[in-house]
Amino acid sequence: MGIELLRGGAEPPDLNPLTIRGLTVSYGEKPAVFSVDVSFRAGQMTAIIGPNGAGKSTLLKAALGILRPLSGRVTAYGRPLGEMRARIAYVPQRASVDWEFPARVIDVVMMGLYRDLGLLGRVRPHHRARATESLARVGMEGFAARQIGQLSGGQQQRVFLARALAQGADLYLLDEPFAGVDAATERAIVDVLKGLKAEGKTVVAVHHDLTTAPEYFDRALLLNTSVIAEGPVAEVMTDANLRAAYGGRLGAMHAAAG
Ligand code: ADP
Ligand code: MG
Repeated sequence: MGIELLRGGAEPPDLNPLTIRGLTVSYGEKPAVFSVDVSFRAGQMTAIIGPNGAGKSTLLKAALGILRPLSGRVTAYGRPLGEMRARIAYVPQRASVDWEFPARVIDVVMMGLYRDLGLLGRVRPHHRARATESLARVGMEGFAARQIGQLSGGQQQRVFLARALAQGADLYLLDEPFAGVDAATERAIVDVLKGLKAEGKTVVAVHHDLTTAPEYFDRALLLNTSVIAEGPVAEVMTDANLRAAYGGRLGAMHAAAG
């Protein structure tokens, strides 16, 4: 079908995992995200970077349909977002989660399977096996019966990643997965994300550490309400672009990086 479309002179269909067009999101009068156009490419790891309040979390939430935009359109794998939810996993910012909620680790991971289970579905051995295997992938296999609220920040982050893995998605959206985690957890998460990439999956993560961005990611989206730059990490993270995004905060940023 694609070839006929091309012969006809029409634009080829956009089959990227996620395409955002003309996205503007506002909580009040001033937009938090303004007129964003971006496509995230299959099999690539993209960092969303930008100062505090740049709209990074807002962009992710609007891309997921959690927030209703003022304007704009989001497609996933060439289809309306709503049809592709099963293929998209989301790991929210750890600080935004209520960790007092009583739940065992294994139950949190099983939440990743709810589309397979359905509302009244029975948990079958292969579901439990998938959840256990996901926990093992993040190095948390011994913690299945523990209460989620009793884990360290890094352990909680791993469990949330395991929940996303259990879903078996093709596109992974993560909001600051390395914030407030220990070095071993950061390494473990990077390894899992690179493993996903090796499987051809797509990773988009809000990332606050500019020093590690080139090592962890292929591409970067530099955001400050609007898109400042998007492309291969090294091309995006130029002094001029960073200055445009961080402004007066650039000095503090270099101090933190140095
Ligand atoms: P980032 O993730 O880049 O730090 P956010 O997307 O969280 O930025 O926020 C972008 C802007 O929107 C900020 O000015 C923030 O104060 C504002 N904002 C975020 N969430 C809300 C909300 N629920 N209600 C009102 N304003 C919000
Ligand atoms: Mg944020």
